Parts: sequence; C-alpha cells; structure tokens
Amino acid sequence: MLDIHQIRADFPILNQKVNGKPLIYFDNGATSQKPKVVIDAISKYYNEINANIHRGVHTLSQLATDAYEEARLKVQNHINAKHNYEVLFTSGTTFGINLVANGFASILKSGDEVMVSALEHHSNIVPWQMLCEKTGATLKVIPMNENGELIQSEYEKLLSEKTKIVTVNHISNALGTINPVKQMIAKAHQVGAAVLIDGAQAVPHLKPDVQDLDCDFYAFSGHKMCGPTGTGILYGKEEWLNKLPPYQGGGEMIKEVTFEKTTYADLPHKFEAGTPHIAGGIVLGTAIDYLNKLGFENIQELENELLAYGTKRLLEIEGLKIYGTAPKKTAVISFNIEGIHPYDIGSIIDKLGIAVRTGHHCTQPIMNFYGIPGTIRASFSFYNTKEEIDSMVEALKKAQSMLS
Ligand code: PMP
Repeated sequence: MLDIHQIRADFPILNQKVNGKPLIYFDNGATSQKPKVVIDAISKYYNEINANIHRGVHTLSQLATDAYEEARLKVQNHINAKHNYEVLFTSGTTFGINLVANGFASILKSGDEVMVSALEHHSNIVPWQMLCEKTGATLKVIPMNENGELIQSEYEKLLSEKTKIVTVNHISNALGTINPVKQMIAKAHQVGAAVLIDGAQAVPHLKPDVQDLDCDFYAFSGHKMCGPTGTGILYGKEEWLNKLPPYQGGGEMIKEVTFEKTTYADLPHKFEAGTPHIAGGIVLGTAIDYLNKLGFENIQELENELLAYGTKRLLEIEGLKIYGTAPKKTAVISFNIEGIHPYDIGSIIDKLGIAVRTGHHCTQPIMNFYGIPGTIRASFSFYNTKEEIDSMVEALKKAQSMLS
C-alpha cells in the first residue's frame, strides 16, 4: 500500500491555501495536479536542451529529438501499441478526435452511419456532427439507462453494415461509468465498422492495452494524467493511419514539396505538422513514468476506497441524489441536493477551499436525459483523502442550511 503522506508531498500545489482554507482539490476530472518531477522536468528541458526537433544536426537539436522520440516509445510501451509510429503526439483528446473525424470525410458517403453514445463529452459529439454535415452521413446515438450505462441490446440493434465508425468513451467524465469497450469494439468489428475510444478519463485510472482492446483509434490528453496541458496522444492502427489523409499541412509532414505536387512523410510525421509542444511531449513521458512507479493497481485501490467512502458519506446528506450508479465506475460522484442549484453550492464551498465542478460538464445530452441543468461533480484522485471528503460533507451541509 502506498503512503498517502509521501504521495501528497509530491504535489506542491496541495499545500496551498485557497480563500484562507487548505485547498481540497476534487476537480481531477477536469485536470489533474502535477507532481514535482513533472514540474521540474519542464524547467530542465528549457534550462538544458531546448531546441527544435527533427531538423538540426547540432547537438541540442539531437538531444531534444532523442528525448521526444524516447517519450513516444514510453507511450507506445504504456498503451502496448504494436509500433511507435502508431503513436501520434497531439495537443489533447479534442485534437485527436477531430483528426480522425476530419479524415473520415474522405471515406464516408451519404447514407453511411456514424455512431456515438449518449454518454459522450461534447468533444466526441460535435466533430462527428460536423463530419455528418459534410458527408451526408447519419449520426446514430447509443442510448443510456437511468444508472448511466449504455444499453448494449440497443447498441447491437443499431449496428449494421451502414455503420462506418463507432466512437465511445472508455469512462464517462460526467458520471464515471466504465464502458465495456472491449465487447463494444468486437461487436462493431463484426459489421466492419472502425472504433475510436475516447480515453480522456480512463488514462488517469488505468493502463489501456490498445492491442487487447483491438480499438482502431484511442485518444487521450496528457493533462488529466499528471502531465502538462496542451499534450495528448492519438493512437491509430497502422492500416487506418495510412488510409486517412493528413489533418494539417505544413513543415515536418512532407517528403517533397513542389508547386505541382507534394508528397507526405511516413507515419507518424504525416500527422505531425509544425513545431509540436516538445517540452510537453517529453514531460508526458515523465508523468507516465511517475504513474507507473506508483502502479495502477495501487492507484485503483486508493481511488476505489475514496469512491466507496465518498458515496456513503454523501448519501448521509438529506435530499442528495447521485447520478451515475453503474456498478463499474471510477472515483467520480455527480450529485445534486434537492431544491438547490449546483452552481450556488459550488460557489459556497469554493469559499471553504473546496474545488468541485458544477454545471453540465460538457455533456448536455446527459443532463437533458436526467432533466437537470447540471450537477456538482467531485472527482477524486489517488492523492485525495477521506479527511478531505469529510470536510466536503461538512461544507455541503453548511451550504444546504444557508441555501434552503
Ligand atoms: N473526452 C472526455 C471524456 C473528457 O473528459 C474530456 C475533457 N474534459 C475531453 C474529451 C476533452 O479533452 P481535452 O479538453 O483535454 O481535449
């Protein structure tokens, strides 16, 4: 078992006071805090090896290129991709999804179907709607039930040879539901559809194995897994990445440019136009090392304890309703207190140093399903404690008595 005091000492920001109170950070679903090794690695990069990559023959450029490519190998290893060139550096999940949706514009035709789920973040809905508008394809939606689970029998009914791509999150950001993506991928493949998994909320909690899942694409962000903002990864199977056209044109992504015709570079460079977030990519590797050193089994053990304890404690509050009660979920608790707007509660507990998310969490269709404007979302990380949960429960009771 990990020592929570030692872990907390790794995160300088957790020592801060906010509004005069010790910070209690329960907004990990939005972005995680960063351990000192990650913060230090960013300054080390700029202090010691800053140079542009893949270009210069000079020593620093070589060092930066090597470090960047080493980070790609770390990610490859972490997600068990077959080849390093199937790992593309992006600016985040949103970029990765848009890259694929844009590429499918050259594949889809009118009458084809694109399938999303009722549990998606807007960034895994809107790019596909834009694709459908461009191509005349139809958007289909896998429905959800009251518990916040996707209805698998309905999914099977919706699948047909018209389905060209299915896109679903591994874990829901609003409710924490862990979707049975491996089975869903296998079913989509039976009708010949490709599958993109939005792994934004999964990678802080588990180590995805893209070959075992057999997904065609897997997108995630670095900032939710202790890495820097503006970093992310799109994994794509070689055959798909070869089939899709480049997303952006520019330097680095070409073999040869003439005014008559340009030929594109091999993978992964075909999809990596321009100067990337070099420090970010390298330090994403540092963040992955940090998480692996803690161990994902240990992380899950700590977080599952927080989920069980937090659920029990929150349900002691009269009139509190939790949304998302799937048996398989991560340490996310989305809730409302009867008769009180989530925003009002969020503002009051912020004054007490407690950071939670309030609103629709970029998942308006989920809020519409429940007929609510939004929820309060407490999303825990391995560095949170039961004592912090106790403080939140006290703060919520205070807010409740002030507002009702
Ligand atoms: N999908 C899910 C499930 C998310 O939670 C998020 C971030 N909240 C995104 C996609 C988008 O990630 P980013 O803003 O880092 O691109």
